[in-house]
Amino acid sequence: MNNKFDSIDHIGIAVKSLDEIVKIFGLISEIENFEIEEVPEQKVKVAMFRCGESNIEFLMPTSPESPIQKFLEKRGNSIHHIAFKVKNLEGKLEKLKKDGVKLIDSKPRVGANNKKIAFIHPKSTGGILIELCEKRREHE
Ligand code: ZN
Repeated sequence: MNNKFDSIDHIGIAVKSLDEIVKIFGLISEIENFEIEEVPEQKVKVAMFRCGESNIEFLMPTSPESPIQKFLEKRGNSIHHIAFKVKNLEGKLEKLKKDGVKLIDSKPRVGANNKKIAFIHPKSTGGILIELCEKRREHE
């Protein structure tokens, strides 16, 4: 199966205040519809703005132990990761492992918007955090 990076699914941006960014981004983008979702597995609250084929994902930590919290303390509000769509996430992860790429998630987990996601370790990407995601099928 073709497992090239498809399109950009979303850009993840870490923010200290979701309320604040939703107001600012809503105003400048003129995108009125967005979804707010809590993802307990990742200790974050997410606001998703659909932007054409892609999304802008604002992430706010819901706990001091959230990795996003540590990121914000170092970098302030800024781009946290870029997520690419793939068609077969399990297969892609197997391929990356074979190629010696370090992964944060060796198995897919559940992310926002009911997607299967996995992160590649920044040690293998020159420090850039890359997420892979696949839309979940109905029966999963
Ligand atoms: Zn993401």
